[in-house]
Amino acid sequence: MLLSIAVHTPAYSAISAASELLTYCADQPLPPGTLVRVPLGKREVMGVVWGIDTAFAGDPEKIKPITAVLEAIAPLPESWLRLVHFAARYYQRSLGEMAIATLPPALRDLTVEQWARRLKRKKKAPSDDIAADQALALSQEQMEVCAQIDKNTGPFLLFGSTGSGKTEVYLHQAQALLQRDPRAQVLVMVPEINLTPQLEARFQARFSATLGPDAVVSMHSGMTAAQRLKSWLAAHTGQARIVLGTRMAVFASMPHLQLLIVDEEHDASYKQQEGARYSARDLAIWRGHDLQAQVILGSATPSLESWWASRPASGKDAGGRYLRLAMPSRIGAGQMPRLRLVDMRQQPRQTLFSPALVQAITQRVERGEQALVLLNRRGFAPVLFCGDCGWKSDCPHCSAHQVFHKVDRTLRCHHCGYSQRVPLACPSCGNPDILPLGKGTEQLEEALERLLRNVQRPDGQPARIARIDADTTKAKGALAEKMADVHAGDVDVLVGTQMVAKGHDFRRVTLVAAVQPDDALMSSDFRAPERLFSLLLQAAGRAGRDAAYVAAQGSAVEMWLQTQQPEHAVYQALRQWDYSGFAAQQLQERRDAAMPPFAHQAIIRADARSQQEAQAFLRAASELAQSQQLLEGSEVFVYPPIPLSMQRVANVERAQMLIESPSRKALQQFLRAWQPCLHWLRAHPEHKGLVRWLVDVDPQAI
Ligand code: ADP
Ligand code: ZN
Ligand code: ZN
Repeated sequence: MLLSIAVHTPAYSAISAASELLTYCADQPLPPGTLVRVPLGKREVMGVVWGIDTAFAGDPEKIKPITAVLEAIAPLPESWLRLVHFAARYYQRSLGEMAIATLPPALRDLTVEQWARRLKRKKKAPSDDIAADQALALSQEQMEVCAQIDKNTGPFLLFGSTGSGKTEVYLHQAQALLQRDPRAQVLVMVPEINLTPQLEARFQARFSATLGPDAVVSMHSGMTAAQRLKSWLAAHTGQARIVLGTRMAVFASMPHLQLLIVDEEHDASYKQQEGARYSARDLAIWRGHDLQAQVILGSATPSLESWWASRPASGKDAGGRYLRLAMPSRIGAGQMPRLRLVDMRQQPRQTLFSPALVQAITQRVERGEQALVLLNRRGFAPVLFCGDCGWKSDCPHCSAHQVFHKVDRTLRCHHCGYSQRVPLACPSCGNPDILPLGKGTEQLEEALERLLRNVQRPDGQPARIARIDADTTKAKGALAEKMADVHAGDVDVLVGTQMVAKGHDFRRVTLVAAVQPDDALMSSDFRAPERLFSLLLQAAGRAGRDAAYVAAQGSAVEMWLQTQQPEHAVYQALRQWDYSGFAAQQLQERRDAAMPPFAHQAIIRADARSQQEAQAFLRAASELAQSQQLLEGSEVFVYPPIPLSMQRVANVERAQMLIESPSRKALQQFLRAWQPCLHWLRAHPEHKGLVRWLVDVDPQAI
């Protein structure tokens, strides 16, 4: 019996070739989705049976037998195979890569014997009691939204302010479904690992009493391989009724999946940026459609793609494919904070904190309230700079600057990791006075410490400042510990990167400040304003979350923005917390410029030893598309190659080429037809200097 088996092998990553599935033989027919071990060269690897190979035309004598069948695990469901098939086609990858890369690593790497032993092990008793929690009586807005969800098929875009009770809607819908159908499963995705423990606690509290403690499992990259495998198996066997996870969870095998929820759907981290570059949000929509399961996307600041897709019908414009449901009110919280724009053009250069902002923070500390200072960067004083000759601490291997790390007095490249001791004098002119340039969270923390030195809390103690960014939270549990300090009131001013802006339910924060938000607008990415608006609105949502506390304190809840461009559309829309107005303005611009969501994009990237070689590959690919007439009448436009903004990393030069079309279908057809050309070029001796090339469909960063 000959079987077609999906195996991950770089040699067969060429898609659209029949050879992307390998042929093996087995004694008995195995159903599609069966997990097997097969020989591959000198190794033995995991494979997924795709079907019976009826088209094999080679020499049957040469076919190798499969090594073993993982009988202890039921075959992956057909629906999972369909999902992988779609994802592989849409994101232009091989079936084998898509199938194998999306399975948990422990599953791929265990031999059959290890498996048998593992499954024999006794189950442990649950680790402790979970405080049970009752469903809340829904607010009027929540009730209306739930009624809409019950009587429509969706997909739904739940457009709800921060703190409007979106999570409560998810819980309510999940509960109703799980009660109605004793087998049904629910998938809930969040963008960040850091947000999963809170969400898990909330779902556990709500469901463990009725469904048992094993019914809710998590899936994210912060878990050990063993934990991930356990969750995956629980989902695959149907024992887990609710799976909570980051983007990888969209590929969880869930045979009875009936409801998919994507929280903070606008978040860029739903897009995988390595290997198979899939969008977990978009795949959730596809998976829901395929399964006839409901999909709820939730956000206070939806992506413009989802906003446009959920437009109501009006005049000549037909409505979108999603149903938009709004929850504008914040439960238990007051109004959104008042926006204070500080025009930094009126301040002396190099001012980090305007005096008015320092005063406002001082007031908060003196009253025992908390302030949150947002900075969208990490590391202390990113670059070392020589004032005499203009030398900067550039990385010798990348087009990035090396970052000055004060803690161990090193210069470090955040891209390739290259690190060296800080030189005693300028390597170029010998000037001993080289200074840090630019501002990081560490420097902000120091400046604040200086400015608030004489400020006292109500208990007479000095103000306490804490910093939360990728550097201070590397250690396991560090973030949770720091957050606990903030919640316990042991911190007065929290300085942090976007990490602190998302999700957290701070009760005593009455002031949020963004000190250098303009930096984000310098980006060449057309999504920069959209991202900044969303980040600032999220951050604003951290203030005044407890209306009763605010009323008791009699405080003004404020968001401060220090900017050189107070007239910018982002800041003007923020004055009214007007997402809809901002979205309408941005969509108009995008429509005029024929950009997403009014166009569909893909990027072909080439990495090579030199920039010329990288670009030459892309140019040749473009010429081949022309000469093969792949573009004729296709509405697809191929732009000329350009270097990436981060042009060189670890001595590799990178270039990219944008492909655009008003039609998603046309773009897909073109990419599929073009792939063989790219593979052919890759193998051509003229492009020996090419390190790799890749396709990114629906890229998130241009
Ligand atoms: P979101 O997910 O939109 O930010 P949450 O669901 O986390 O909002 O709700 C914000 C706060 O309001 C939480 O503390 C939650 O417990 C509370 N809350 C939500 N819905 C209700 C309700 N119907 N009645 C009382 N409190 C609620
Ligand atoms: Zn110098
Ligand atoms: Zn580097």
